[in-house]
Order: sequence, then C-alpha cells, then structure tokens
Amino acid sequence: MVEPAYLDHAATTPMIPEAIEAMTAQFARPGNASSLHASGRRTRRVVEESREAVAAALGARPSEVVFTAGGTEADNLAIKGLYWARRAAGATRVLVSSVEHHAVLDPAHWLADNQGAQVELLPVDEFGRVRPDTLREAIERDPGSVALVSVMWANNEVGTVQPIRVLAAIAHDHGIPFHTDAVQAIGQLPVSFSGAGVDALTLSGHKVGGPMGVGALLLGRGLEPVPVLHGGGQEREVRSGTIDAPAVAGLAAAVTHAVARQEALAKHLTELRDDLIRRVREAVPDVVVNGDLADRLPGNAHFAFPGCEGDALLMLLDAKGVECSTGSACSAGVAQPSHVLLAMGADPAAARGSLRFSLGHTSTQADVDRVVEVIAPVVERARRAGLT
Ligand code: PLP
Repeated sequence: MVEPAYLDHAATTPMIPEAIEAMTAQFARPGNASSLHASGRRTRRVVEESREAVAAALGARPSEVVFTAGGTEADNLAIKGLYWARRAAGATRVLVSSVEHHAVLDPAHWLADNQGAQVELLPVDEFGRVRPDTLREAIERDPGSVALVSVMWANNEVGTVQPIRVLAAIAHDHGIPFHTDAVQAIGQLPVSFSGAGVDALTLSGHKVGGPMGVGALLLGRGLEPVPVLHGGGQEREVRSGTIDAPAVAGLAAAVTHAVARQEALAKHLTELRDDLIRRVREAVPDVVVNGDLADRLPGNAHFAFPGCEGDALLMLLDAKGVECSTGSACSAGVAQPSHVLLAMGADPAAARGSLRFSLGHTSTQADVDRVVEVIAPVVERARRAGLT
C-alpha cells in the first residue's frame, strides 16, 4: 500500500531520529531524578541538561523551564495558577483571545464558572489577529482588576501570527502578567522567551518532533502561580510528579533541532504551502483561503469550500490517501463550526466547509501534488452529498 500523504502536522508531527535516540537511551536505565544515589544523580543530570538545552534554544534561563506532561497541562498551569495567585489582590479579570486553543479557553471558562473569574474574550480582526488597541482598551477599562492576559503566538487552525511583543508590552505597562501558547510556533517561527518579553510560554513535545505527553511552561522567575498538581513539588514547587526523564530528553533534542532548523524549514514549507494554495485555487476557483496570507505559519493552508461539509471532505480525502483536518471540534458526534472562524466573522455555513492542511518536517512536493490531483473531484462529490 502506498503511504498516505500526511498533511496534519499541526495535530502531531513525527518524531525526529535525534529525539527517538535521546529518549530510547534513557528507557532502560534506573533512577528517579529526585533520588540521592548515583543512579538518581545520573538521571538528574539528564533532566538538568535537557532543561539547559530547552532554555538555550528558546532564549530563557534554565531556572525558567518547568517541565509538564504536555501543552494542555502547561496552559492550565498558566491560566489557573496565575489567576489564583493574583485573585487574592483583587484581580479577577482574565483576558484571553477569542481564537485560543481549548487548552486555554476551557480553563478560563472553568475559572469563570467555578472560581469567581470574569473572562473576557478579546475580539480578533478578519484574519484572526488581536489588534493592540483592542487589548489596550480592555485593560484600561480597569487595569487593577486584570489577573492575566493570554494570547497565543500563532493559531493552530488558520495559522495567523499574533503581534506578541507588542501585546506583552501593553500588559506590562500595567504590571499584568502575559502568557502565550507557542505550541504551534516553535520550529516554524523564531521564538524567544526573553526577546518577546512574555512572562509565561507554553510548548509541547509532539508538535516539534518530540514525544507526546511532555511539554513545558517557561515561567519568568518573579512569577509564582498556585500549583494545579500537588505532591512532591519537583518542578520549582510549581509542578509535582516524578519527572519523565526519557520524555524530557526527547523533548530537549526535538526543541534543539527544531530551533536550529527553523529558518530552512520555514523556507521549504512556505514554498510548498504557497504552491498548494495556488494550485487548489486553480482546481477549485471558488475556494476561500482563511487567515492572513502574509503573516501566517509557514506550514499552514486553511481553506473553506463553499457548499461542502468539512467532515465529508476529510473522509473523501482520506479514502484518496490524503490526511488532513477540519481543525474544528466535534462534540458528541455533531460537527461544530470552528470558534476561530466564527470569531473571525465567518458565516457559520461557510465555516463548516473548512479544511486545514498543515505541513511539517517530512512534507514533500509529492504530498502537495497528491492533494492537487484529487481535490476537484472530492469537492465535487462533497457538494453533491451536501445538497442531498
Ligand atoms: N495549544 C495549541 C495551540 C495546540 O495546538 C495544542 C495541541 O493541539 C495544545 C495546546 C495542546 O498540547 P498537547 O497536545 O501537548 O496537550
């Protein structure tokens, strides 16, 4: 059987050999990084060298790296932990962009439902971008009441890149901590924790060529979020749980290589992505390209096909050996139009016919050619199915 063309790297990207090697080298070795004997100290060294590598690659200090079990946990720690830490001083407003991943949105809504927070969803423009004035106005309505601001570095559905430095500076003018979810940005865009001037930054292993189930929150040293997980206090007393040394070693190798190769990969993916967009437009003239054409993730192409259901397109493409995503959540089997597209002002019917193709380090011209070959007949079939 011919391998399918995998165009779903934003969901997860294959591990790179260097990460597999770093990880497997640790699997059979004994030692808990908190143990005092030689095996424990050896494991501790692996963890601390991994911490140094992640910090060096992302412009942070080693002491600012808090390892977690993935991006979702890091987002939860940032949103809940910073809210709890600042609530005592009367700051209860949580400002998050309306296009965040559910790993940010849902903890924020949970705080509103259960913990006395007032969550404000920052509106975005038609490209999915938070305008600096929007944030400034929201803060200036009552600066002292804002617990934190969270705006993602780049959007996982439509790929739009946010003006993070500018937004973080606005929050800082009022002494408000700023968190960014950079899960999709690392390896595709230059990302620097200190350069962007943010206080907290989320990353995830499996989006950059590392393993699933490991990630980190980069956390400025002055910040003390209230922990979400209580226990042994392993990570700066902020995150408890035995550190998964093999996973952390794999994460460090993946982040190091993703950052070192970022510029070359971005160039390659931009060429492939632009070719994909141009040729899909030729094959399906009424297709709509969502997001910002210039300032977007190099590997992201996001389309709306009028008159189609995204799920139908996805399954028909899968049958033709093309793997992609609708990018939107499916709740109890009922397809929901994406909250990201709705926030951008899309018509709900148009939003339902959307597909995301996301490219990554294993993507080739042949993957793009496969999509172009099958897209017109697939859209035709999905339209006929949509009409009946
Ligand atoms: N944030 C963004 C922007 C994502 O795209 C994802 C994964 O889809 C996550 C957070 C969650 O990361 P993880 O899968 O490591 O929990």
